[in-house]
Formats: sequence, structure tokens, C-alpha cells
Amino acid sequence: MLRVPAVLKPIASILHQAGYCCYLVGGAVRDMLCGRRVTDLDLATDATPQTVMKLFRRVIPTGIEHGTVTILFKGRQYEITTFRSDGDYGDGRHPQRVDFTRSIVEDLGRRDFTVNGMALEVREKRLIDPFDGRGDIRRRLIRAIGDPEQRFSEDSLRLMRAVRFAVQLEFSIDATTHAAIRRHSDGIRRVSAERIRDELSKMLVERDAAGGLRIMRETQLLRHLLPELLEGIGVPQDSQAAPDVFEHLLLTLNGADPQRLDMRWAALLHDVAKPRCVQSDSAGALHFYGHDTLSAEMASAILVRLRYPRRLTEHVAHLIRHHMFDYSSTWNDAAVRRFVARVGPHAVDDLLLLRAADSYGKSGRRRADPAINELRRRVAAVVQQEQALSIRDLAVNGNDLQREIGIPSGRDMGTVLRFLLESVLDDPAQNERQRLLTIAERFYRERIAGPRQR
Ligand code: ATP
Ligand code: MG
Repeated sequence: MLRVPAVLKPIASILHQAGYCCYLVGGAVRDMLCGRRVTDLDLATDATPQTVMKLFRRVIPTGIEHGTVTILFKGRQYEITTFRSDGDYGDGRHPQRVDFTRSIVEDLGRRDFTVNGMALEVREKRLIDPFDGRGDIRRRLIRAIGDPEQRFSEDSLRLMRAVRFAVQLEFSIDATTHAAIRRHSDGIRRVSAERIRDELSKMLVERDAAGGLRIMRETQLLRHLLPELLEGIGVPQDSQAAPDVFEHLLLTLNGADPQRLDMRWAALLHDVAKPRCVQSDSAGALHFYGHDTLSAEMASAILVRLRYPRRLTEHVAHLIRHHMFDYSSTWNDAAVRRFVARVGPHAVDDLLLLRAADSYGKSGRRRADPAINELRRRVAAVVQQEQALSIRDLAVNGNDLQREIGIPSGRDMGTVLRFLLESVLDDPAQNERQRLLTIAERFYRERIAGPRQR
């Protein structure tokens, strides 16, 4: 299973000829042993960064203060890091000093988890595994190297890395390591929002992302990072497969496309405000009036807090705001057009995907929903026919209305244009310059200018 990628041989022999060694380290060794696709090939050597810079022709000193240089070799980039032993960690995130060492075992000892603490000697294909990473791969365990208490107090990012690797590899977290994460969970507050965002993003696009949120709940990380989700624990809702809002959100999350981070967030947060909106009527039935709007606001606040790009945040909030539509076959074509106009042609497909995830979150089963399939077909027809769906698509614009009818620009103009759009959504045949001018004129005189004069 351990095949040294051929491209590493010439790199290693440059180092060997100069009297240094060359190891493949970290994620690549782990992923090879797990039978997973290997992405980056990270190398470690006892040569100093200055020496590495001299030995290779095309090098970039990407992280020279940490001993890392990037070499460009046959069109690809490789990071080579000099064996390190980290000094004390002052701020719970970064070592105060980095010392170089001649020992690969010492270098592996500063790494976070046993599965990440292995090295493959490139020339002899020898595996260096001082912390039994291979055993933990067999046992499917994430286990801290050395004393977990110390390792998590050194660097709080490791708290989230443990969860993320557990989800990515579909491993459990070793009990002692798990207990240490829980004990040190409040350290996560020292980690920058950007780093937390990146860990959460990697976790959320895995098949069983919900499993990661469960670990975060057990270890208290959720209380610090996404406390809003905990409000749903014990709040019942209409779903056979999930006892409460919290479980419904986790199930919906797993029901969404794992390749789509935005859909995963929309699924996880679509009902997040339900606990704040719950009301019971005189018959004892629960209602969550307004939870779509408030969930969209809460989702937006959460994603801004995690420093997600505005595009993603807005799209997720938009989907959540519109997720409560209630389709039935009795909708006429105008109703379908109004639905597409309200949601926007750019978002309507995703909204139907969110609905599919939501019904998985209720039933725990993936089944085709004939009504939603019908709506999808009808929406596609509307979008394909390029019928007018927004004011921009109308056959007249504000300038026309001002010039031809004398409507002043401003609020009244907006009212008239919206009325025209309503008319065209009702009947696309109206979308013609002369007809729209006639409608606009009548509407303006009878409903806006006229009543004002009376
Ligand atoms: P992936 O790149 O797939 O997320 P990886 O294992 O390559 O996984 P990186 O973040 O690229 O993870 O780090 C490379 C290696 O550096 C890790 O395998 C681990 O040995 C070490 N490492 C990274 N971050 C830390 C950390 N915070 N504490 C200790 N060791 C770390
Ligand atoms: Mg990596």
C-alpha cells in the first residue's frame, strides 16, 4: 500500500547527494495508509531552509521562519520543512520559538494526532511510526500524540482539527483525547474565526457531517461555536425521524448535497429560529410563526460571525427565508411564475434542493416527492420560456413611463412598475410596449394621481 510517488525520487536524491534525508510526512502518509486519495505531498528534511534554498533551483521561502520552503518541481509545488521541535506555546495557538532538530522522531512528536505523526523515508520506503499511528488507523481512532491535556492547551485549533479528522476519516475520537477536548473546549475562543470557519467548512462537506456536530455537542465545542443550535434540543417538531429541532437540523444537514457547502449550511440552519418562535394553540398544537424570516436573520448573523464571504451568507439566508413555500398541483401557471419571480431564477433550483433535504430531515428517507418534481418541471418551463420575471424584463422602463405618461421618478414610479410586473406575471402576453403603457396610464390616473386630487 505504501508506494512512494515517483516524482519524489529525484527530489529526495538531490537531498541525499548533499548528505541530507528526505521523508514524506503528515497527511499524505496517513491518507495512503487509509487508502484515501492523496492531495499534498509534504516533505521533511534535516537540511536547514537555507540549504534547501541553495539545493533547488526554483524555491519560494513561503514560511521560512517556521522552516518551510516551497519548491517548484516539474510544474508542481512541494513544501519541504526542516525537522522542528516547537518551543513553549504562549498564546494557546502559536509556539513562541521554533527550534530545528536533526531527529525525525522529535519532529513527529510535535504533531497533533498519531495518524498524522508518521513519516515515510523516501529512499528505503521505510515507515517511521513512533506513536502507533498505524494501529490507530486499524482501530479507526483519532488520538493525540503524548499528553492530550498538554497538546490541547498548547494549541486550541487542535480541538476542532480532532473533530474534523474524525469526520473526514470516519473515525472515533479516543476516550482520553475526547475527555481532554471537553475539558479544554473553552480554548476554542482563542482561535480566529477564519480558522474555525475553515475547519467547519471541511467538516460540513463530508458525508456524515452531522456526526461531527454530535461530537461538538458532547465535547462542548458547539456551545462556544454554534450555541444557537443547542436551543433546539428538546423542542419537539413535526418529524417522524427526529425527536426535536436539533436532530431535525442534523438530519437535514446530512440530507443535503455534500459537495455544496452553501446547501449544507442552509440545511443546518433552515429552522434554527424555531425554538425562539414556538407557540402552542388552544388545542396544544405547536406553531412556529415567523421562523423562516428569523432563521434567515440568525443564519446571516452566524455566517457573518464566522467570516464567510458575503455571497454565500446572502444565498443561504435567502434560501432559508423562502423555505416555507407550500406547493400544490392546484397552482396555476401565474402562481408558478410569481413563485419564480419572488425567489429569483438563480435560487429556485437550490430552494427545491433544500426542500428535498428538509423532507429527508423529517422522514430519514430519501424518496422522490412527486409534487416537488412537478414543481421543478414547471419552474424549468418558466425559466426556459424567458418570460418576464422581474421589472428589468418588462417591455417598458421608468424612462418610458416618465416620457410617455409623465409619471415622476420616485416612489410612485416603483409602485407602477411593480403593478406592471404583477400584470405580466398573471399574463405574459401583456409584456408589450403599447399594452404596458396603456395599463400604466390607467393605473396611475385611477389609483395614484386621481385619488390624490380628490
Ligand atoms: P489535510 O491537508 O488533508 O487537511 P493534513 O494532515 O495534511 O490534512 P495539514 O493542516 O496540511 O493537515 O498539516 C500537515 C501536518 O502538519 C499534519 O498532518 C500534522 O502532522 C501537522 N500539523 C498541522 N497542524 C498542526 C497543529 N495545529 N498541531 C500539530 N501538528 C499539526
Ligand atoms: Mg495538508
